[in-house]
Amino acid sequence: MGKRLIAGGLAAVVIVLAIIVLRTLSLAPQQQSLEAIPERDVDVDAAAANLARGLTFETIAFGGDRPVPAEEFFALHEHLVASYPRVHATLTREVVSSYSLLYHWPGRDAAKKPGLLMAHQDVVPVDAGEWQHPPFGGEIVDGVLWGRGAIDDKGSLYAILEAVELLLAEGFVPERGLYLFFGHDEELGGPDGAIPGADLLAARGVELAWVLDEGGFIVSGMLPGSDATIALVGIAEKGSVTYQLTVDMQGGHSSMPPRHTAIGILAEAITRLEQNPVPGGIDAVNEEFLEALAPQLPFTVRAALANLWLFRPLVEAALSGSPPMDAMQRTTTAVTVVDGGVKANVLPSHAEAIVNFRIKPGDTAVTIREHIVRTINDERVAVSKSDWHREASPVSPTDGAAFALVRNTIGEVFPGIPVVPYTVIGGTDSRSFYPLTPNVFRFAPFRYGPDASSIIHGTNERMEVAQLADAVRFYVRLIESSGRPDSGPGDD
Ligand SMILES: [Zn+2]
Repeated sequence: MGKRLIAGGLAAVVIVLAIIVLRTLSLAPQQQSLEAIPERDVDVDAAAANLARGLTFETIAFGGDRPVPAEEFFALHEHLVASYPRVHATLTREVVSSYSLLYHWPGRDAAKKPGLLMAHQDVVPVDAGEWQHPPFGGEIVDGVLWGRGAIDDKGSLYAILEAVELLLAEGFVPERGLYLFFGHDEELGGPDGAIPGADLLAARGVELAWVLDEGGFIVSGMLPGSDATIALVGIAEKGSVTYQLTVDMQGGHSSMPPRHTAIGILAEAITRLEQNPVPGGIDAVNEEFLEALAPQLPFTVRAALANLWLFRPLVEAALSGSPPMDAMQRTTTAVTVVDGGVKANVLPSHAEAIVNFRIKPGDTAVTIREHIVRTINDERVAVSKSDWHREASPVSPTDGAAFALVRNTIGEVFPGIPVVPYTVIGGTDSRSFYPLTPNVFRFAPFRYGPDASSIIHGTNERMEVAQLADAVRFYVRLIESSGRPDSGPGDD
């Protein structure tokens, strides 16, 4: 009896080990099935000079009461017209809300739904911090373009136009039509740019095959425990909602206080929220992300990722330890403002805190409110939502021809780099176009090291000229390939 039990136990262990090893090996490094395409001749110096000039226009998205710097946007528009004569002779151009630009390049086959390439003209303000080269100087030094907007997002904007100009010079006519949309207030959420731009197309009955906007990059060394290079393609975006917690109580003199003042009650509510994050974990998008990532990681990590049926709690706990990874697997909680009390010897009659949540697809502002009320579990704390909020975006499919177009083009222009779908933590203009297609992808064809996140929106934003050339090649290839019969969403 005892022997049989031990033998049975051993057999179970062996089976489990076999499954782990087999599943781990099934996630062996993927073979790139695609051949790199011959490198396209791009006039790198001319492209760099165009972008450098583009970086001198101070198209800053100030927001609030500050007016749009109209002259800067108009100067940028003039520069685009002058730099890309073929684009402006062949494509139609419409201006949306005075500053945003919508171009249309009709395709040979009107029955095919058009694609949409996006970038934005506006940049974030430059705050304190030492720039090695002036942020609006448009300088090219030792093969590097310096300036606000080099990456986010004039690099893409100019690369797209360079690509179309190059194709037009070759006499290329796309099989599938192409729209270009360059918003002017992306950094403010696109209220006067992308939102009316998408409405305009929808009102005309336009349906799109796919949208490609900024969001992901080719990154190296950004993942814990790996220096792997991967191409991140955003297939969803998180939303954002802010709640205010308020406690109102009788004031009075501080000499005979109640056990908890309004501030104490608020503090306890905050502590509970921080100690009980919104439940999350590895969902379908994360699983695809981790699966695509696994071959780049050491064997032990791969074994864990390949066997989530067994190691899920361990993997989720490990992800929780890293803020960027944790942000991927749950709606995040950030207590950002706290206010209460007026004087050292007066009991506060009012205390309040502001908590910002970044909503993961699957959660909503309503479910988050439920989480807050349940977690705080104290009727003395009033919970109210701020006026503005944005739900998480839908999740774009990765099993269709539209994603394959993006993935294959990355494979051809950046051979050997695995394509990894993920959820974009910030927001992009592309979210406004979901009513026109389910295939909304976020990828800018630039390579970055671990310092990328500090220079985007930070100081010393810059791009190597060679990166710009690769980006032009990427858009050229994407436009060329988009007319192939296997590159549509399948229903056009
Ligand atoms: Zn951007």
